[in-house]
Amino acid sequence: MYPPGPESADHGTLQSGQDPEGLRLLKFAGGLEKEFRRYHLSVYLLRMRWALLVAMALFLLFAVLDAISLPEPVRSRILALRLGLMPVLALAWLATYRPRLHRWLQWIGGTASLACGLGVVAIIWLARVHAFPLPYEGIILVTFYFYFLTGLRFVPAALCGWLTCTAYLGMEWLAGMPGAVLLYNAFFLGTSNVIGSVGCYFLEYAARQNFLAQKQLQDLAEKDFLTSLLNRRAFSARAESNWRQALRERHALGVAMMDVDHFKRYNDHYGHAAGDETLRMVAQVIGSHARRPLDITARYGGEEFVGLWYDVSEEHLRAILEKIRTGVAALNLPHAALGPDGRVSISIGLAYVRPQSHQRLEDALRLADVALYLAKEQGRDRVVCKQPDDD
Ligand code: GH3
Ligand code: MG
Ligand code: MG
Repeated sequence: MYPPGPESADHGTLQSGQDPEGLRLLKFAGGLEKEFRRYHLSVYLLRMRWALLVAMALFLLFAVLDAISLPEPVRSRILALRLGLMPVLALAWLATYRPRLHRWLQWIGGTASLACGLGVVAIIWLARVHAFPLPYEGIILVTFYFYFLTGLRFVPAALCGWLTCTAYLGMEWLAGMPGAVLLYNAFFLGTSNVIGSVGCYFLEYAARQNFLAQKQLQDLAEKDFLTSLLNRRAFSARAESNWRQALRERHALGVAMMDVDHFKRYNDHYGHAAGDETLRMVAQVIGSHARRPLDITARYGGEEFVGLWYDVSEEHLRAILEKIRTGVAALNLPHAALGPDGRVSISIGLAYVRPQSHQRLEDALRLADVALYLAKEQGRDRVVCKQPDDD
């Protein structure tokens, strides 16, 4: 599975498998597109690396062929051009090993590929100038290379293909190629590009379908069906990773346990279906207050929720939790089992910790549970905070 990024910390619904418009136009909306690009990179990085190696190897092979078969002075000029392209390809190849450059890799790979295409055009032109006609099939070869080997997405691949085709035809026209021959070449190159473009479009379409299917599976495995928040298992995995990061970077964490007050009586009074709807609304309030990439909220089980906020001051976190508490109160959901003015409320226990090597995430969760217990004991509908060195 591709690595989850900040966007996958969203608290959206289980709808990620559906975006027909995004599929057709090869562009998903907002954060989903960013996530797709990361997925695409994880799938195609190796292919791009190999494609660049293959391009370098083929240029070298053709250089040997040039050295054997071309007369001077065209030989040394074409050899210089071929070898001049090697550093461009090598730099792009090195960029595949630099994670910081990965977000630009489509354009880096695209530029290197286009340089190959224009390089081949220049080689044919040089040969033409020296009255040594080279076959134009080289252009068809690079065209298929763009569309099917480079790992480029549709747009950069099509740009490379059509720009190279246009450059070649322009060059031949300027070099005085007879109209009928030029027309034939244009027809063959044009159809190569049409075949490549359609093929590449459907390859990207399929990649997007796979991405959505995988994301849907990931959602099913990680999200709670009722509330669309993360489930307990996914919370544990992500929270453990955040805990280790906080330990490394010496950042503080807030872990909060949140529990709907007197929910058994709510269910008994209004029924389970109404209870579910209320849990959904409460979850929405909770999820809307954890939007940063490393903040996590989840349904811990039943009417109990858990949240982890990363690198935040205690004061700020208390304010966030107060907002959650008042946000639930502001839903203004009647809870008649508590009396005529009864309203649904939530109690929150916060453990504010700066992870130490001898502590574990479970210790923080236990501490938050103690704080939640105190909140219940002190009358519910409140936030209570505990720190590890409290009694
Ligand atoms: P407290 O204020 O002390 O938390 O009291 P409480 O009644 O909320 O706590 P208790 O643990 O006694 O009851 C939790 C209730 O939550 C029991 C169950 O009816 C309800 N519940 C748990 N999961 C679900 C669910 O998925 N849907 C609905 N509708 N109710 C649920
Ligand atoms: Mg409860
Ligand atoms: Mg409970």
